[in-house]
Amino acid sequence: MAEPLKLKGKSASPGIASGPAFLAEEPKAPSAAERPDAATAPGTVGGFGALEKAIDISINELERLAEGADAESRDIIDFQIEVLRDPTIAEATGARMEGDQNVVFAWVATLDAYIGELEAADEEQMRARAVDILDIKNRVLGALAGTPIADFPPGSVFVGKDMEPSRFLAHDWSKGGGIALFAGSTAGHVALLARAKSVPMVVGTGRFSVAEGDPVSVDGDAGTVVLQTGGMLIPPLAPPQAPAGDTQTESGELRTADGVPILISININDPAEIDTLDPATAGVGLMRSEFSVTSLADAANEERQLAIYRHVMEQAGEKPVTIRMLDIGGDKPLAGLEDLPTLDSGLRGIRLLLARPEIARVQARALLRAAVFGRLSVMLPMVTFPDEIDRMREIFREEAEKLGRRSLLHRMPPIGMMVEVPAAALMLDTFGSAAFFSFGTNDLAQYLAASARDDIDADAGKAAPAVLRLIAQAVKLTSGKPVSICGDMAGNPSYLPGLLAAGLRHFSVAPARRPAIRSAIIGLNADGTRAAGE
Ligand code: PEP
Ligand code: MG
Repeated sequence: MAEPLKLKGKSASPGIASGPAFLAEEPKAPSAAERPDAATAPGTVGGFGALEKAIDISINELERLAEGADAESRDIIDFQIEVLRDPTIAEATGARMEGDQNVVFAWVATLDAYIGELEAADEEQMRARAVDILDIKNRVLGALAGTPIADFPPGSVFVGKDMEPSRFLAHDWSKGGGIALFAGSTAGHVALLARAKSVPMVVGTGRFSVAEGDPVSVDGDAGTVVLQTGGMLIPPLAPPQAPAGDTQTESGELRTADGVPILISININDPAEIDTLDPATAGVGLMRSEFSVTSLADAANEERQLAIYRHVMEQAGEKPVTIRMLDIGGDKPLAGLEDLPTLDSGLRGIRLLLARPEIARVQARALLRAAVFGRLSVMLPMVTFPDEIDRMREIFREEAEKLGRRSLLHRMPPIGMMVEVPAAALMLDTFGSAAFFSFGTNDLAQYLAASARDDIDADAGKAAPAVLRLIAQAVKLTSGKPVSICGDMAGNPSYLPGLLAAGLRHFSVAPARRPAIRSAIIGLNADGTRAAGE
């Protein structure tokens, strides 16, 4: 059994507590069936009225929390209510909305600016207030999306970067438990509350990893946290990560009949699909994030996105995961965005993300933070021109800098692109800053055949020779970078000979298509010809 690991932090509240770890950022990634109906959530579409309503809901929640609370707790809740009632915050949000920002993004941007100012303050007292404002931000965001802040099991040890006061206040501490924070402050409101309620608390341990439910002890007298099993301290600066595709051959024991290694990854649409990842799978070749982020409120919610991506990364373990940024627009609407006057049918995928950078920036931050938890690559949808990649890279760079300033652990993932627009496929050699390529034959076939997405099924067979020829040409332009295919053609055994002949060696398919593709590959040579005796 692994030795217990003792981590030194600062005592924020005395006493000793032990219990199963509750990981604050541990995802509770809802499946599609569990998702609240984003379209009916108050305020996903609404304007200033929706914000006012969400603020009212939040104030009511806080007032309920204040009932029966002790004097110290009430002081903190009153402070939060006061901030929520402060007209300047609503006015600043309103001003951003006049600048064409959606209500949720305007709210997030206003509160983030406030939090940023507090975090940059010289005095610790001021810096410690940042988490109170973060708390308010998330509460109102939850009210806008119809998803309240979740409690955690009584008796557990809360583990996370920081803790919001309302989480502390809503929790039942009579069953014991404690708090272990990577960052946090002894001067913060939660520390004050913990001392008042005699909840052992240690802050400033630095980031450590521990599995949900593993035993953790908090020694608030000595200022230490003891991880009883299998925990480890994560160094603050993670080493740069190699593109996921570079080392993928490690896991590929599948070979063509003439011995050429082939990788089969899976495409996932719902994060829950990762829970049943087959050990023979090379990894996740495509996660369509737009199926997990289905409303503007979700798109504005960095923590929720981080939880979803982190869940996928942790379930994938050592295996590489490629998460595609939101491919919204066209046939994939985002609830709350469809009524914007700027939205036209050509504005889809990366183009829309660059036109609405506030959406891209939140997702970039969530992805940068999720990258710490495994081998993440980020894929850009519907790329047409090289400068689109450069501009998105710049967004990642800027957001990484912001995360660094806030001491939030993150890592720059390799950024690659879907090849699903014919203009890009023909010019792949000009996409110098793409780290890898993945062919999206669904859109490639549609745009090559001047077909509509809904009609392409009927035309797919007829369009396939043109798609295959284009892919064969494009593969020659990839300059040795990792290349795969994740469009539906990859999951159809009848196209395998053509795709192998085009030079493809990595296929990402729907989980249900994997067995059929696997057995088809065994009967084929790497040039796509049938193996002798087949
Ligand atoms: C594709 O276009 O082939 C693809 C994989 O993307 P999506 O089906 O999500 O448009
Ligand atoms: Mg596509």
